[in-house]
Amino acid sequence: MTEVLSGKAYARIVRKSLKEQALQLTGRPPGLAVIMVGNDPASSVYVASKERACRKVGFYSRVIHLPDTVPQKKLLELIEELNNDSSIHGILVQLPVPDHISAKAVASAVLPSKDVDGFHPVNVGRLWRGEDGLFPCTPSGIIGLFHHHGIPLQGRNAIVVGRSNIVGKPMAALLLRENCTVTIAHSRTQNLIRKCSEADILIAAVGKPKMITSEWIREGAVVVDVGMNTDEQGNLCGDVDYHGIFDKCSAITPVPGGVGPLTIAFLLKNTLASRTSILN
Ligand code: NDP
Repeated sequence: MTEVLSGKAYARIVRKSLKEQALQLTGRPPGLAVIMVGNDPASSVYVASKERACRKVGFYSRVIHLPDTVPQKKLLELIEELNNDSSIHGILVQLPVPDHISAKAVASAVLPSKDVDGFHPVNVGRLWRGEDGLFPCTPSGIIGLFHHHGIPLQGRNAIVVGRSNIVGKPMAALLLRENCTVTIAHSRTQNLIRKCSEADILIAAVGKPKMITSEWIREGAVVVDVGMNTDEQGNLCGDVDYHGIFDKCSAITPVPGGVGPLTIAFLLKNTLASRTSILN
């Protein structure tokens, strides 16, 4: 029987635990600052849900809206102010940023100990070196989901389709830390279907609706679908053909209700970690 890995249910458990841990703290609550540049409608929805999620678990939340014409220098100055603000433990700049702003410069401006997105080069280095640090929320949430469901990882062949800095690469690094044998695939990978069909664990982080079909899947594989796309009917769908591959998998995440809810839950987890952490 195929096990449905519900990120929604697991995220609820994570949030409950974070709320309890926040209540135990003396002094300031964990504080998250979210900076949004411009008025992208999808970003507005994400920022509002991050703010709501913070409040629900008793964290302090500050949302700062900047016009899309804001010079990069001003944005970096604001980040520096937040770096020095003791009520703020996590700083996040909602992506994408306008073209005149360098996302890399922004990531490097956030203090590594407040870098709850895990995008600062110091945290990226710590991730690949196997050290403690703050790591990207979506892949961290997926590892948490595996542990929660008792999915064995050690020694298994995992393939990550997609090599972005936000999902694919950190996902591969985290699987490697779990002692998986990891393949990172991308748009130039040859024999992609064959490689996927040999994997025990397949993580799809591509952004192409229902690209991954039954022939890509090894019998009994664990499949995690990070993709958030819209199908021809305008409905939310993932990168995998969920119904087409369901019976072939031993476990699978749905879309919606799979990976999506984990991202914000693990953002909160990182914020609490940076509030209580000795990392610098
Ligand atoms: P990017 O566009 O940054 O990266 C996509 C990756 O997929 C690239 O590495 C690209 O390869 C690869 N790719 C594209 N086409 C193919 C193909 N035909 N075959 C193999 N590989 C291919 O996307 P993100 O990593 O930011 O996001 C991926 C998906 O996950 C999106 O749908 C996004 O919306 C979703 N997402 C969901 C989150 C959640 O919370 N659920 C969080 C973040 C993202 P190359 O590098 O060669 O171009």
